[in-house]
Amino acid sequence: MKVGFIGLGIMGRPMAKNLLKAGYELNICDVNEEAVKEVEAAGGAPYKTPKEVAEKSEIILTMLPNSPHVRTVMKGKDGVLEGIKPGTIVVDMSSIDPTVSIELEKAVSEAGGEMIDAPVSGGEPKAIDGTLSFMCGSKEEVFDQVKPILEKMGASVVHTGEIGSGNMTKLANQMIVAVNIAAMSEALVLAAKSGVNPERVYQAIRGGLAGSTVMDAKAPMMLDRNFKPGFRIELHIKDLNNAKHASEAVDMDLPMTKQVLEMMNKLQEQGLGAYDHSAVLWYYEEKENVEVKR
Ligand code: NAD
Repeated sequence: MKVGFIGLGIMGRPMAKNLLKAGYELNICDVNEEAVKEVEAAGGAPYKTPKEVAEKSEIILTMLPNSPHVRTVMKGKDGVLEGIKPGTIVVDMSSIDPTVSIELEKAVSEAGGEMIDAPVSGGEPKAIDGTLSFMCGSKEEVFDQVKPILEKMGASVVHTGEIGSGNMTKLANQMIVAVNIAAMSEALVLAAKSGVNPERVYQAIRGGLAGSTVMDAKAPMMLDRNFKPGFRIELHIKDLNNAKHASEAVDMDLPMTKQVLEMMNKLQEQGLGAYDHSAVLWYYEEKENVEVKR
């Protein structure tokens, strides 16, 4: 099967390599020539534009930063929609605004194709291992067709409902992670400021109801003062802005999400957007003049 892959960044590069290893013929494209060369060396066939990739492929995968990039690659000059053939399936694996997934699915469908939004969680290590978690929004029969290829890049591939529901699920994931990190920061700074060792607090509560995957991933980073990303604050800001936009579309307020977004925006204004999102801790530490450490 001929597969197109557009967007060979931190995530896209290892995902594309896993598909090549699995024996797929891959037509690749990225504005970053270095990224294209690396995947070409692993067996990908390079093309200059998304249009050319679309002309040569039966399934087109995209892994791009955010909604505007996906819109440009799909609808822009020399974009996918200029080259797409009837029956082609577009699989957008980027984390974007679900309302944009719905908008793009309409355009793909008018061109005779099908579209599925299939964002991932797991980050670069799981992209390399091929153990990502996919959350997929599409018609059932479209999901059935693309599931085998997604399984070459992921350990879990779940159908969440109609188009847009994959990105809505990803937003839920990102909101829960953001609020968790902020709650942990608030609690550990309170403990430290009150003279209680934050490491002991973590060890005492991690097995109880407050314990979580987020806590076990991020508390040790905070205690080690290791804020190397991981997942960058600036990418999390993008996701929380998308959540805000999605909530406005259904006339809902997101008080907690908005509060953490404000904290992350403050950190970004201070030039800290490229650090791991566990650095939300700094927001509290700076205000309270306390450091959380082992
Ligand atoms: P990235 O910025 O490393 O990669 C994006 C790639 O898209 C880059 O190589 C860029 O050159 C390319 N690109 C941008 N515009 C383009 C265009 N018009 N035509 C062709 N190529 C174009 O981002 P990433 O970390 O790989 O993340 C991709 C998506 O996955 C994002 O939506 C992100 O939120 C999501 N995600 C990231 C992680 C993570 O840990 N990095 C985890 C889960 C999900």
